[in-house]
Amino acid sequence: MEWFLRRADKISAIAEMAAGIAHEIRNPLAAIRWSLEAMALRFPEAKKELCAMTDELARVDSIVGELLVLAKPADVQFEAVRVVDVLEVVCLLLQSQARKQKVKIQVVIQDHDLTVLGQPSHLKQLFLNLMKNALEAMRTGGELEIDIRNSNDDYVIVSMVDDGPGIPPEVLPRLGEPFFTTKPNGTGLGLMTCHKIVRDHGGSLHIANRKPHGTHVEVRLPILKDGMLKRSGKCASGNEVSI
Ligand code: ADP
Ligand code: MG
Repeated sequence: MEWFLRRADKISAIAEMAAGIAHEIRNPLAAIRWSLEAMALRFPEAKKELCAMTDELARVDSIVGELLVLAKPADVQFEAVRVVDVLEVVCLLLQSQARKQKVKIQVVIQDHDLTVLGQPSHLKQLFLNLMKNALEAMRTGGELEIDIRNSNDDYVIVSMVDDGPGIPPEVLPRLGEPFFTTKPNGTGLGLMTCHKIVRDHGGSLHIANRKPHGTHVEVRLPILKDGMLKRSGKCASGNEVSI
């Protein structure tokens, strides 16, 4: 018993340290990015190499970002967050990537006021990761439909349906496994982070294939109403997975 306690203490100390280190790494990364951007202006002949360095830096930054969420203790400050506000910011962030890839993002909002008790930056990361996956699956364009609604059983449902190839059956059970990726430049940390975020928020994440093709991702988060939360669980089977 004591051994387990000591071990748990050690793990949480390591997690706290990892979060601290990840946070510290972000500042020098930002400084390097600014310098690279300044160099690209001063040395146009080296633009290609500098762009490649900026891309790699963005990758390091995204790994550090995931680590920050994964290592952070679950008892971070939660506040009332309107789901529509978070999605609006994420849509803005991904607007140019979507335009470049000829993906049309369609958002249907059934209730603008749906609010959850959450950590705004983590919720942003959750939807950013899911929407990025959808965009990355639609290399040749398509439509990403996002629907925000009330489940009528005290949950906000954010459902995302993409037009991509869907997820092969052998890949489905591996989703959320650390470092599991099918992309040449993937980190395999995105869904694992999403899973931690929904779990910390008392919600669930459900991923299924959609016929004839495409992926359907559903996030359920407990609604905050008059300062009160109600919670329950949900499972899945067959050609789908809850991670
Ligand atoms: P990464 O995006 O770095 O690969 P993730 O954890 O975000 O890591 O995703 C893991 C894997 O899940 C992806 O490599 C991909 O194979 C699969 N995946 C996730 N979302 C989708 C989607 N919308 N369509 C198709 N495949 C997906
Ligand atoms: Mg991803």
